[in-house]
Amino acid sequence: MSNKKNKNQKNNKLNIIKIIIGSLCIILLVMTIILVSKPELLYRVQGSFLGRNDNHISFKENKYSEINLQGFDLNSQTEWRSEQSLILLNKAHALPEGFVPQMAEYKDSGVQMNVAILDAYAQLSAAVTENTGDKMYVSSVYRSVEEQAELQANDPELALPPGNSEHHTGLAVDVYVFEHAGMNFLESEAGQYVNKNCYDFGFIIRYPKDKEDITGISFEPWHLRYVGLPHSKIIQQKFITFEEYINLLQPNKFYHYDKYLITRQPLNSNIKLPTGLQNIVYSPDNTGHVIVTGQIID
Ligand SMILES: [Zn+2]
Repeated sequence: MSNKKNKNQKNNKLNIIKIIIGSLCIILLVMTIILVSKPELLYRVQGSFLGRNDNHISFKENKYSEINLQGFDLNSQTEWRSEQSLILLNKAHALPEGFVPQMAEYKDSGVQMNVAILDAYAQLSAAVTENTGDKMYVSSVYRSVEEQAELQANDPELALPPGNSEHHTGLAVDVYVFEHAGMNFLESEAGQYVNKNCYDFGFIIRYPKDKEDITGISFEPWHLRYVGLPHSKIIQQKFITFEEYINLLQPNKFYHYDKYLITRQPLNSNIKLPTGLQNIVYSPDNTGHVIVTGQIID
């Protein structure tokens, strides 16, 4: 009788172990399916394992054959568009000689913005109102070199020298909501929302907290910079600055992120790209290179 009892207990234990192993296998299988079907999740898992400094490994390098685009006329191609969205400006990188920002008016507001950001800003602004009930306002977008000189004369501590401000490009937007401007912006629901979600709309917090040693500027939760998708998402997921992102893109390499292919190549050479891309965006980066971003056709 007691033998039978012991046997039953053993069987019960065995069954429990089988159930646990079985469950673990199912969990592992489901995780594998999710990771394989959603490469961006795989990317995130890799990123958190590798840490912030392993920038080069967490992109998958493509084995696409290169094609020579000599004599390629960007404006004649519907698949291509030329933008200024990835121009780097900081204390070390001044506005390129002869740079003319591509500006347009934002929604009959009288506010001029770089054409690259019009749609994205409208979407972000609508999302802020939808999610927080607040209306977001713009205090500064475009500033001429002369205006920046005046600003710096009044506040040499805060502003970048004339010729080095992102506001010269119309790609940076200083935002606020009622009674919450500057550092106070973060105290508002809208400020919290924008600082967390602007990356989904192609914007970054250009001067993040604790990155002053790299950007040269202390935390500015109100200063949004448009860089476009998927660059803003990568910058967010890797907790890096725009400076670090440009450095991460090694010249003449191809990087694969989500449905995008990204490559950074010398400005004065032929651009080499694989076939099978659509919605190709071409932007100089102000470091002697252009960054080309294309969507991979399924
Ligand atoms: Zn600003």
